[in-house]
Amino acid sequence: MSSTIGFIGLGHMGGPMAQNLLKAGHTLQVFDLVPQALQTLVQAGAKAAATAAEAVAGADLVVTMLPASRHVEGLYLGESGLLTAIAKGTLVLECSTIAPESARKVSAAAAQRGIRMIDAPVSGGTGGAIAGTLTFIVGGADDDLEAARPYLEKMGKNIFHAGDAGAGQVAKICNNMLLGILMAGTAEALALGVANGLDPKTLSDIIAKSSGRNWATELYNPWPGVMEQAPASKDYAGGFGVDLMLKDLGLAAEASMQARATTPLGELARNLYALHSTQGHGKLDFSSILKLYHQPHG
Ligand code: NAD
Repeated sequence: MSSTIGFIGLGHMGGPMAQNLLKAGHTLQVFDLVPQALQTLVQAGAKAAATAAEAVAGADLVVTMLPASRHVEGLYLGESGLLTAIAKGTLVLECSTIAPESARKVSAAAAQRGIRMIDAPVSGGTGGAIAGTLTFIVGGADDDLEAARPYLEKMGKNIFHAGDAGAGQVAKICNNMLLGILMAGTAEALALGVANGLDPKTLSDIIAKSSGRNWATELYNPWPGVMEQAPASKDYAGGFGVDLMLKDLGLAAEASMQARATTPLGELARNLYALHSTQGHGKLDFSSILKLYHQPHG
């Protein structure tokens, strides 16, 4: 069945996710603050909206994919927030990675207006967004997830129900804390090997088939030239930005404090990415953390 979908936030992830919904035969009304992001979708057949409210007018489904909590709260809440423009009964998929508390706040405000919302943050990177193989980690009511499932299946391969509103965000934050740690650890190990005379590709091949293997050594190697398709081989362009990883490690630190949990490696990783960002690398892909350990011409 073809639906009308309002899609807001067409960046590295939202752009290809919206493309996959278009390919599935849905009508897309799209909005982003960056005209170029909007243009790419229009060329693919979507209708450009002049405002977020225009994008959700008459929509059966609304999807948002924004950077952080402040963007999501800023968009939906307040007297002229987007919730006032969305029709009662509409299903909303909020796919950004944000604080669980923000997800619960926006979801409760939506429920008050009779709008059904799930938090559905994703894992799988830009490659997964393009290929339509993302993992969705959902928080919200069972029947809302079931209503969302046919759309999620057009953008992803694995769909998990973590629990009530906000639970998708908690699970996503735990995953990304581990991702930040393992990417820094992989960069550190490769730099150690190279400093001791090993070839980075040979060492990567060895680790990929040994007990240190992980997502970075299998799909997203941080060393330039080891994997042709990885951001490291494209001057760390595209992919998942250092500042977005830093945001997620900050969310992990907040969740840790709130629950009185202990996350020493997560804290160390947050500091490493913060240092890397202050050195001017905030917009590069997060695998550029390698630069902290290895300067090719330094
Ligand atoms: P991005 O910065 O590339 O895209 C965000 C887009 O939102 C931008 O185009 C921006 O202009 C737009 N935007 C911001 N505020 C807006 C508003 N009020 N109205 C309309 N558009 C607005 O970020 P991304 O890499 O696509 O990531 C989006 C979310 O997905 C983040 O929460 C991130 O943590 C998460 N995520 C990213 C990846 C990844 O590999 N990039 C992977 C998993 C999850």
